[in-house]
Amino acid sequence: MRASSENENRDQGPWVEIDLAALIANYETLKRAAPGATMSAVVKCDAYGLGAADISRALYDKGACREFFVTYPSEGVALRAALGEKRRDATIYVFNGPEETDIAAFGEAKLTPVLNSIEQASLWAKASPNASSILHFDTGINRLGAPLEDAGPLAAMKELAPTHVMSHLACGSDPSDPKNAAQRDEFLEVAKLFPGARLSLSASAGALMDASYHFDLIRPGIALYGGSPFEKDDARIAPVASFKAPILQLRELAPGETVGYGATFCATRKTRIAVAAVGYGDGAPITGSGRAQSAVNGVVVPLAGRISMDLICLDVTGLPAAPAAGDAVELFGAGIRLFDAAEAFGVHSYELLTGLGARVDRRYVWGPGEAGSGE
Ligand SMILES: *Cc1c(COP(=O)(O)O)cnc(C)c1O
Repeated sequence: MRASSENENRDQGPWVEIDLAALIANYETLKRAAPGATMSAVVKCDAYGLGAADISRALYDKGACREFFVTYPSEGVALRAALGEKRRDATIYVFNGPEETDIAAFGEAKLTPVLNSIEQASLWAKASPNASSILHFDTGINRLGAPLEDAGPLAAMKELAPTHVMSHLACGSDPSDPKNAAQRDEFLEVAKLFPGARLSLSASAGALMDASYHFDLIRPGIALYGGSPFEKDDARIAPVASFKAPILQLRELAPGETVGYGATFCATRKTRIAVAAVGYGDGAPITGSGRAQSAVNGVVVPLAGRISMDLICLDVTGLPAAPAAGDAVELFGAGIRLFDAAEAFGVHSYELLTGLGARVDRRYVWGPGEAGSGE
């Protein structure tokens, strides 16, 4: 990660402003949408690129979140350290479950595995008899999870004491897809074999679907971070991340002059170009060239030419007042919804967030514009 905001030698480069108050607001929105369920937080992949440590501490302290999901044991170990002694009652689940070589880490960091096969379940039952775990069944996504045929043997397995049974929807992004109800009904069938276990089917999408999808524990990710889990935007979700970069230079082009690699933009009139310090190396996908937009001083303007590794160019000719070097451009955030930016860049919201590069300084604020530290 690049020099943090406390560092006086900070580069004039891109940053992402992460509004922890908006994160908590989204968490509360999901809780209200699914009042009967416990709301956890999926903080895998460094909380979708926004920083699992600060995100999780905020959710614990201000949202009363006590259950967290990561993908790898190493992510769980790092999260346990970030939560620290004063938040030691947090439960950290590991989606990918244990390998034999991970068992010690699970014990030391008090991690709870998601068990995705008979093999993983046997390993866990032998290594940690009757310790908590989640049993994950595949009800039709055909990704991770034990097949339904294994439910009988798993229910009979000695010293396996799953606290939860979970599954995952393939088509939550489209609530009208009949596959959702089919998966839910399969899930209810398999759950009958585990009468003492709590049930967890839904991620962000399911939390915002009807109550028949809520069950006991919901595992939201994207909606916490300001993204819609659906195929269209969802106004209930508040923007959390604002991806910004400073303008480095301005230049005036005569008609016929071009911008960037491949000269894909050609000025048809006197054109003012702003060059900003962010590129595909920072997570502005090159597929946004000629399509994506940015907000400059509150006004949305088009990108000009091909996005390069470290730089983008914007056509700011139409701005009522010329911007200055040092002014911020926003690729998404309060001015441009994450959903719309992702569409224009030709990727999903999930990918736009997780693609934020290592050079992008993560700056945490409580409320728009209010600087503050995460801890
Ligand atoms: C990533 C993931 C989630 C969170 O999904 P969102 O769509 O981001 O809410 C929940 N459950 C599982 C199994 C996942 O892999």
